[in-house]
Amino acid sequence: MNKPRYFKESLARLKPYEPHLVPYNIKLDANENPYPFPGSLLDEIFTKIGSKDFPLYPDPLSSRLRKKLAEKLGVLPENIVLGNGSDELILCLYLAFGGQGRTALGFSPSFVMFWHHAFVTQTEFREVPYRDDFSFDLKKALKTIEEQKPHLVFLANPNNPTGSLVDLKTIEKLLAFDHLLIVDEAYVEFSGVSAVELLKEYPNLVILRTFSKARALAGLRLGYLIANKEVIKEIIKVKNPYNVNIFSQIAGEVVLDNEEVFKEEIKEIIAEREKLFQQLIALGVRPVKSHANFILVEFGERAKTIHQELINQGILVRYLGGVLANYLRITVGTPEENRQLLKILEENL
Ligand SMILES: *Cc1c(COP(=O)(O)O)cnc(C)c1O
Repeated sequence: MNKPRYFKESLARLKPYEPHLVPYNIKLDANENPYPFPGSLLDEIFTKIGSKDFPLYPDPLSSRLRKKLAEKLGVLPENIVLGNGSDELILCLYLAFGGQGRTALGFSPSFVMFWHHAFVTQTEFREVPYRDDFSFDLKKALKTIEEQKPHLVFLANPNNPTGSLVDLKTIEKLLAFDHLLIVDEAYVEFSGVSAVELLKEYPNLVILRTFSKARALAGLRLGYLIANKEVIKEIIKVKNPYNVNIFSQIAGEVVLDNEEVFKEEIKEIIAEREKLFQQLIALGVRPVKSHANFILVEFGERAKTIHQELINQGILVRYLGGVLANYLRITVGTPEENRQLLKILEENL
């Protein structure tokens, strides 16, 4: 098939992201917060946003939100940049520090966007596999870094889709090179381990956070990146100037002003995760220890069949395929959702 010359050869192999939408009752496939966004906070957002705000372009730096985040994190506003989801910030990292002739390193299996935006920006992407039990292979990581000399290293901590976590000592070993280390802390509220305290000591550390998971704002697209000022400046150079709309900026501020509302939900989700883990073991399948709000579960050869059966019964979970063909990734839901999931699994195992 001959395409006209304005099509790019480099994109020929890439499949567009087209989720196949199926009807469902329970959604446990995208690690979203299972609880509705609190009504009182919704009211507060609508009180704060005015009709005068809509015709005007939003603040390109989300200054009020940036300041609030800086105070919470003990960094300066100049150490933070907001994004239209952390997905956008991953692309910005590649635009600023990747591209043709540059190399990024990731660990597999992990978050597909690290690979995806490398591909789009024609950045070479290398992968170091996790061990068979999904623990982090530091020795192999250090050896590959020494050989490949990547410009960027992406580590999701906790990792998606495995739920595994590395400690700060491991992260410090990965920082002892002249690359940027991006630690994606999308699930930090569920792990309690953050590399933020290392920012003072390591100018090559970048931390990614999101409002999409524990903060229940996936639909509004809000994420942020924390790093040293010089790195932030480069990201601001390449980002879309009006990347975060005014509604999301205000929603982010209201969420930060009401953090205690989410603390209860987070506690509950962690307790449910541990309960679900034990219940899955009791069913005879093999869950992987998780520090996030999902559990990777080994079902053996029936994984795909069980996935389809759950869809038939209105429950969505994630089938990842590839090296994880025998696994399903299940987001921790509300107690009632988890009960229904377990019931259907029990009937089909
Ligand atoms: C869900 C997730 C994100 C969040 O992306 P947003 O664009 O902020 O919604 C980022 N990183 C990882 C590893 C994730 O699993």
